[in-house]
Amino acid sequence: MSGRVVVFTGPSGVGKGTLLRSVLADHPEIYLSISATTRSPRAGEVEGEHYYFMDATGFQDLVKRNDLLEWAEFAGNCYGTPRQPVQDQVDQGKLVILEIELEGARQVRKTFPEAFQIFVLPPSLEELEKRIRQRGQDEESAIQKRLAKASVEIDAADEFDLQIINDDLNSAVEQFKAALFEQSPGEKVETPLASTAS
Ligand code: ADP
Ligand code: 5GP
Repeated sequence: MSGRVVVFTGPSGVGKGTLLRSVLADHPEIYLSISATTRSPRAGEVEGEHYYFMDATGFQDLVKRNDLLEWAEFAGNCYGTPRQPVQDQVDQGKLVILEIELEGARQVRKTFPEAFQIFVLPPSLEELEKRIRQRGQDEESAIQKRLAKASVEIDAADEFDLQIINDDLNSAVEQFKAALFEQSPGEKVETPLASTAS
């Protein structure tokens, strides 16, 4: 039995984590991939729950061993998706969500074209900046890097199978759920994950 993979992308601060928490609360059967990162933990972030936090050497080891399904640099840190847990969950027939940035989404599109790709848009760049700042978890330099990335990412939104504008939260949650649960069986993943990342 094979499950499905959904890629969930959008600029930092758009509300991806908020949307995921809402959907996962109602659907604990979904497997949210836990990424490896060289970023330092934010207040409240837990090792093995939010990320696997590691130094650059540890991350490079994962890359060298080809243990990552995809990886990318974002705002001065490396982020990557451990391959094996995703493969295991897909093999068990699970719906797997990868919350990753644009470059990673592009890699998954090449190595794993069956994955359904969703891009979350903010109602405006002003609102995006407001959300990043009100979250209050990033330093000013990190906020500037994230905002600089945001325009580039938003320009690529057309590459995705579906765009969701996260303006009214409830409406965005409903659109997200519809995308996850109203896909046709024809879109199910039937092949093993390809074994190359960038
Ligand atoms: P991301 O995971 O994409 O970086 P977060 O989920 O951390 O974004 O959300 C960033 C901030 O925006 C949080 O403070 C969150 O409460 C807020 N937020 C998320 N969705 C909405 C929305 N639809 N309307 C207003 N604020 C929102
Ligand atoms: P943050 O530092 O805000 O947690 O994440 C920064 C960006 O990295 C977000 O756009 C997030 O989606 C992305 N990201 C998180 N994990 C991964 C991953 O495994 N691979 C890639 N390519 N991006 C990731």
